[in-house]
Amino acid sequence: MDLHCHLDLYECPSVIIEEVSRRGIVVFSVTTTPSAFLKTKQISDGVPSIYTGVGLHPQIAHQRFAEREKLYELIETADFVGEIGLDGGPEYKQSWDKQLEIFTRAVITANRVGGRILSIHSRRAASQVMKIIEVHSGVSIPILHWFSGTMRELHEAIELGCWFSVGPAMLRGSKGRTLLKNMPRDRTVLETDGPFTTKDDRPYLPWDAEEICPAVIAEIWGISETEAKKQLASNLRDLLLLMVVSV
Ligand code: MN
Repeated sequence: MDLHCHLDLYECPSVIIEEVSRRGIVVFSVTTTPSAFLKTKQISDGVPSIYTGVGLHPQIAHQRFAEREKLYELIETADFVGEIGLDGGPEYKQSWDKQLEIFTRAVITANRVGGRILSIHSRRAASQVMKIIEVHSGVSIPILHWFSGTMRELHEAIELGCWFSVGPAMLRGSKGRTLLKNMPRDRTVLETDGPFTTKDDRPYLPWDAEEICPAVIAEIWGISETEAKKQLASNLRDLLLLMVVSV
């Protein structure tokens, strides 16, 4: 599985999609603008294991603010919602109000249409993200992608019922590993965030998550790699069932 991947941003998406299809990997294909959604959905048409999300990335909230109504509209028909969220980095400070408006309305809309899986960016904004989830997410299922908040924020997120998608890049560092150690084992799934994440100058590919992460997770959780794989597969099944119920 790769539950947070920007399929449309790889150099040659069709080649990746063909391989995903051949391997039968479940991919949550996130988009960063509502205008990219339909085309991205189209390129993986006919591959049943690829789900396409509609999103508006917080780091481009300023440039794409005019597309927000399109986002709310598409949430109704999308498989899931992502990438959405908040970015509290100083370089995005001037768009904070716009980020807040888009994220809040997206979360409210997802709940109104019956709940959706939400793949959420929360860099340097975990507390603010959680405030909105707490009040507005309702029956949706929030997945915090590449969570990098504090331990206290992690516990808040767990309390709120959040899921977590972790990937090879996050698990390279000690901070990511410590967070993983404290994540609920039955609410942890895999992602790559490719092609934004790279190793040796090549982007991570959707199948890298399953190839790299289980061994690391097994070590951190103190279980065997087989058990880690079993747990992750069971989590994915649970999540897909929840998704069927919500859409
Ligand atoms: Mn991403």
